[in-house]
Amino acid sequence: MKPSNFPTERPTSIDASHFLGEAFSLIFTNRRGGVSDAPFDSLNLGFRGGDNPMSVSSNRATVASQLGVSVERFVYLHQVHGTTVRRAGSEDGRKAAETGDAFPKTDGAYSDRPLTVLAVLTADCLPLAIGHKEGLFVAMLHAGWKGTLENIASAALNEIRKEFSFRPFDLRAVMGPGIGPCCYHVDEGRANLFVERYGEGSGVVQGGARPGLDLYRANRANLLEEGVKEENINTTGICTCCNPDYFSYRREGVTGRQGAFAFLKTGK
Ligand SMILES: [Zn+2]
Repeated sequence: MKPSNFPTERPTSIDASHFLGEAFSLIFTNRRGGVSDAPFDSLNLGFRGGDNPMSVSSNRATVASQLGVSVERFVYLHQVHGTTVRRAGSEDGRKAAETGDAFPKTDGAYSDRPLTVLAVLTADCLPLAIGHKEGLFVAMLHAGWKGTLENIASAALNEIRKEFSFRPFDLRAVMGPGIGPCCYHVDEGRANLFVERYGEGSGVVQGGARPGLDLYRANRANLLEEGVKEENINTTGICTCCNPDYFSYRREGVTGRQGAFAFLKTGK
């Protein structure tokens, strides 16, 4: 059963804006509604997987039109499973529109600029949005197993703290569609890294012979350590590997990328 505050599902995306608050838009696209051919069918937003670039550009334009923001305001990143987080300004999307990415080797961005759309692309990794309840800033992060273990949430908040003064309990966080522990079976070596970091009883690693890794739980722990309140952390509750509406690297190997998009609707 879905929780009562489950985000609103639309044919090609989920609107989870209300989890962050009135100042924000937070949209997670799925694989429907684009023009890419198999195995990227159809709303693939990533240039790097081998899809026809014309299709990707067309899909990015479709999302921009659905969100009602110019494609030149979309800050796509060259994601590398690291913890580099950059501040995005109003002009940074233009570079992404021209070259595909606004920043090289970057896995998260934050901004206080209205209609600067922070974009993260995934196919099982968790997209993690963080917003300040007064609309001071918003961040969008890419948290796969490496980014989670290296704590990209903490890296982002440390970076943001250099420019903005905020209290952690004024933050709201949303984890978008990503692979769940139901499907994310890992080898013992990787499982042990997480047990060492989060503890045996944390539930981050589940099961025995084929341990299931719970990236949701691990990122929640990262956020709680930063002082974000439990009740201000939400998820869409969607496992990308279980749900065929989403691209899943684990399920398909060669596949497309769905998008997670966060932005401030108006300036502070
Ligand atoms: Zn699953």
